[in-house]
Amino acid sequence: MNATKPTEVLTTSSTVLLKNLEELTSSGTWELNFRDNTLHWSEGVFLMLGYEPNEFEVTFEKGVSVLHPDDRDRALAHMNEVLSQNIEYSIRKRLIKKDGAIIHVVSKANLERDEQGNPVYMIGIFQDVTEFIKTKKKLKKSKQVTEILIENIDGIFWEADAQTFQFTYVSPQVEKITGYSREEWMSSPTFWSDHIHPDDRNFAVNFCHLESKALKDHKFDYRFLKKDGTYIWLNDRVKVIHEQGVAYKLAGLMVDVTHEKGLSTALNDELRLKQNFLQTLPSVFYLFDESGKFLIWNNLLQTVSGFSENEIREMHPLDFFQGKEKELVSQHIQKVFEEGHTELETILTSKSGKTFPFIFTASRINYQGKTCVFGTGLDISEITASRSLLSESIERFEFLAKATNDAIWDFDVANNSLFWADGFNSLFGYDLEKVQPSLDFLISLIHPEDRERIVAIITSYFNPKSTQNKWLEEYRFKKADGTYAYIIDKALFIRDEEGKVTRVVGSMQDISARKEYEKSLQILNEELEAKVKALAISNLELEQFAFVASHDLQEPLRMISSFMGLLKRKYGGQLDEKADQYIQFAIGGAKRMQRIILELLELSRVGRNETDLEMVNTHEFVNDIIEGLALKNRKGNFIFEGLPEIKTNKALLQHIFLNLISNAVKYAKKDIPLEVKISAEELKDHWKFSVQDNGIGIEEEYFDKIFVIFQRIQRDIEYDGTGIGLSIVKKAVEKLEGEIWVESELDKGSTFFFTVKKIA
Ligand code: ADP
Repeated sequence: MNATKPTEVLTTSSTVLLKNLEELTSSGTWELNFRDNTLHWSEGVFLMLGYEPNEFEVTFEKGVSVLHPDDRDRALAHMNEVLSQNIEYSIRKRLIKKDGAIIHVVSKANLERDEQGNPVYMIGIFQDVTEFIKTKKKLKKSKQVTEILIENIDGIFWEADAQTFQFTYVSPQVEKITGYSREEWMSSPTFWSDHIHPDDRNFAVNFCHLESKALKDHKFDYRFLKKDGTYIWLNDRVKVIHEQGVAYKLAGLMVDVTHEKGLSTALNDELRLKQNFLQTLPSVFYLFDESGKFLIWNNLLQTVSGFSENEIREMHPLDFFQGKEKELVSQHIQKVFEEGHTELETILTSKSGKTFPFIFTASRINYQGKTCVFGTGLDISEITASRSLLSESIERFEFLAKATNDAIWDFDVANNSLFWADGFNSLFGYDLEKVQPSLDFLISLIHPEDRERIVAIITSYFNPKSTQNKWLEEYRFKKADGTYAYIIDKALFIRDEEGKVTRVVGSMQDISARKEYEKSLQILNEELEAKVKALAISNLELEQFAFVASHDLQEPLRMISSFMGLLKRKYGGQLDEKADQYIQFAIGGAKRMQRIILELLELSRVGRNETDLEMVNTHEFVNDIIEGLALKNRKGNFIFEGLPEIKTNKALLQHIFLNLISNAVKYAKKDIPLEVKISAEELKDHWKFSVQDNGIGIEEEYFDKIFVIFQRIQRDIEYDGTGIGLSIVKKAVEKLEGEIWVESELDKGSTFFFTVKKIA
């Protein structure tokens, strides 16, 4: 070693050579100076680490920093070892590239020491071994895998004569698997068949023989007797090697499938169990493989479809469907194989052509190593029937909706859908083909003046806390022609358990006609009131006329009477007898007219300006009247009974009693003594008085007529009168808010009843 001129290694002349060398070998050199603790890298080191050549100044710290942290301590320790023990520097370590990637390098170096043995230089080389390490790792892995495979495959490779079944080759595994040596296997042509389980032997030998003859590669399972006396299941896959149509050699692989067989036996048992369960299922159960071959199904499929077990074994799932359904089912089978699950509602056609609505579910599973589809089918005939019952009841509802005169509506809250029955056409003129009813639309049709009120009420009903379920509202509803109809809207709100409204069914009745009638009735009432008013005015005017007429007529009448009297006095006896008689008639007529006029005047005066109320002792009052009439001492017998003290209008009461008692006296019977009974009875709101006589009586047909003005029964000559008296009585009774009527029997007597309202 040359310790005196170490830097000469890296002299310029040799730099180019080094650089080429480094590139070729993907390596780099480094130089550590112990005297001034400096480090130097060749371009190769920079390139190796992904830097530009001399991209930065190299220091000892920098050199340490590119070391993988996990390798740093080890690298420094090795350096110290080399320095102290004088051994060769050689280490594998990881360096970090500029981009963070890690490279594996082998670093080897020479240490130069001075005469005293102190270290001066260390010149070393980095060799990138990353690729090598990677490859080695891969190799190791694949070797491991192969070893695992070799160790774990329970397969025996073999070759045999196609005619004699004599084995010509058996792989070493045979001993481990069967216990027999390769030699034993190849010892006799019958070795194989001799060790097959008696139950499987015929099948296995014949099958293999026939398939080989037919030049068909084949596989089959059989039980094989091991040297230890137990049986194993072998799965034998055979390739037939032939020439000119004749098999001359068989090559195969026997695999121990005892474990799988055991599993599948267990699986079969489980399936058998399941089959029992399946048979009791209320729905169809099926399982078919990718080719559509049915592997499992329950009896119900046979019962429903009418196909026998053997028929189903040969059938494809699509054979149960017809026409469009077949296409649909086909799509779903494809779907379940792709997506793992599907469901469909379809129609199954039985052997006899009968159809059944079904819902099928289908799921993909791995069964016995094959991708299969299994699922259930539910006969939904009954559900469909109840569905059609439902549609029947809907039809019935629609029929009813049509039959009634009302407009029926049905609001489904969850779907926010409003149904309008035909009534909306017949009553309001909406074309139900074109109109799309909705709650918003309905609200828009409510008259603007009613809308706010109705919406507020609807909103309150929709509150889940509300317990109101029935509503009845009147409002104006816009018809298709833009006019408004008055309607009564009756509705029933249907709520769920939480009180939320789920459905509202209602009916609208057009009450426009009734409203119109009510309106016209109101108009009529108003007119009537106006007429009553007019009548009252004309009555008043009439009374005024009667008063004025009777008052003013008296003057000319008095003139006639007095001049007639004058004529009688001055010329009486001078004219002939007839003239005297005429004068007498004229005087009588004038007198009578005078009386009528006086009574008319009295009638017109009844109630006029007579509003004063006072307490009246009716007993005394009636007694005074009788005395006034100067009748008491005459042949009459007057009886009073229960006559009270009442608050009343004295003048009106005077008219009543005076006329009634006068009449009782006037219409008395001539042959018997007169008897008049005046009595009273207290009613709830009225006093009822009666004036009873034992006079001539009145025929029933005149009971009403006698109260009409000028109506008389007798002729004037018999009983003097004007026919005005009872009219005055009636008017006075009515002024006292009472009624008057008569009870009488001809020849027996009459009783006049009248009531007057009590005044508090
Ligand atoms: P008049 O001046 O004729 O009495 P009224 O109006 O008082 O007129 O009576 C009408 C008629 O009723 C009388 O003409 C008479 O025929 C009948 N009438 C009234 N009071 C009695 C009575 N107490 N008994 C029988 N008839 C009576």
